[in-house]
Amino acid sequence: MSVVAPVQLQPRAAAQVVIDNLIKQYGALHALNGVSFSVNSGEWVALMGPSGSGKTTLINILGGLDTLTSGRVVVDGVDLAKLDENDLVRYRAEKVGFVFQQFHLVPYLTSLENVMLAQYFHSVTDEKEAQEALKRVGLSDRLTHLPAQLSGGEQQRVAIARALINQPKLILADEPTGNLDEANETMVIRIFRKLHQAGHTILMVTHDPDIARQADRRIELAHGHLYFDSAVHGPGHPLNCPLENTSDCCKSVSGDDEIRFDHLLEQIWVCGEGGKPAEVARLRASGASGKLSTVPEEPAARVLSRMADLHLVALHDGEAQLTPEGSQRARDVVRRHRLAERLFKDTFSVDETEAHTQACRFEHIISPELDQRICTFLGHPKTCPHGNPIPPGECCDGKSRS
Ligand code: ADP
Ligand code: MG
Repeated sequence: MSVVAPVQLQPRAAAQVVIDNLIKQYGALHALNGVSFSVNSGEWVALMGPSGSGKTTLINILGGLDTLTSGRVVVDGVDLAKLDENDLVRYRAEKVGFVFQQFHLVPYLTSLENVMLAQYFHSVTDEKEAQEALKRVGLSDRLTHLPAQLSGGEQQRVAIARALINQPKLILADEPTGNLDEANETMVIRIFRKLHQAGHTILMVTHDPDIARQADRRIELAHGHLYFDSAVHGPGHPLNCPLENTSDCCKSVSGDDEIRFDHLLEQIWVCGEGGKPAEVARLRASGASGKLSTVPEEPAARVLSRMADLHLVALHDGEAQLTPEGSQRARDVVRRHRLAERLFKDTFSVDETEAHTQACRFEHIISPELDQRICTFLGHPKTCPHGNPIPPGECCDGKSRS
């Protein structure tokens, strides 16, 4: 029996945003229904979820554009519920920068004037600084253009320059690339990456898994609830598929140790993909909410010890590593999971959440033959709907993969 050393968790950095049991009602409709999470200073969070799940409502409340019904929202130590209309205007001016899907530029002002208008709003006007801001987003040669004379991507870059004029620590972006073609999207995301590196805290609504993967953390809303948070549900790295979020998908088969093994192997595999150690303390033998119905909660460390006895993993210093045998099995189960997600998403047009839930069940049922038939049917896909790689199978040998 392997002995697992206790693992010290890293101390948490200071939270810049604290959201606690946030409820927002529009009449009888609960746009947000008890959302709680914190965002650390300098963190880049991708906010995802289906249309109508409450993303824009959340961003607007954080930005002081809308008020909350109940709960608590604290940004930089400021309790937003306590601010009156005047305070909110000051809060917006001093603390946050907004970037919207619709760029909201004043059509009869030039790029430079649009940025200077924002300065004026913040009680400074400094043309040099405005020029500098536009230069930083690569628009030095577009200072005197009107919005109509700019491409969508250029307009969005003017909007970003404008949002940054007050040096906000917190940047709120609601689908900032939603109206852009791919080339402009790349350019805009590159700017956000720089802002992230410069230490800004970013909350960005996006539907694009490729963009979300660049963030530190992914949070998904569903029906006004927090559905998934990679900082809580994942083994702690930003690139994960929510493979370990098995609370609702494994009930019927949860008595089976093999399935828990598979889920742990998947988590360790996903950690490896992200280049992160699989810390035993962060792995989960049960579902996200600790709900595996037929077996009482069992610590992952204990399940992992059994797996070590079976030579599926090796445990050192609180870290789990795959043995060659475990690695092969992990690869197979990750492949089945991601193939199944692709199948459900592409063939039945279900959303990613539903595809994931179905895949969690399906991955235990697919035989090697069916695995290959699905893969061939789908044209040997390279990635799952979240953009993560599907390990190739025998059937992919020599095939060009879509
Ligand atoms: P998302 O941005 O995730 O698509 P929203 O935050 O815009 O979702 O909307 C969440 C829910 O709240 C939706 O059902 C939407 O219709 C409703 N909603 C949003 N704003 C208002 C409003 N001003 N008045 C009434 N209902 C609203
Ligand atoms: Mg929205």
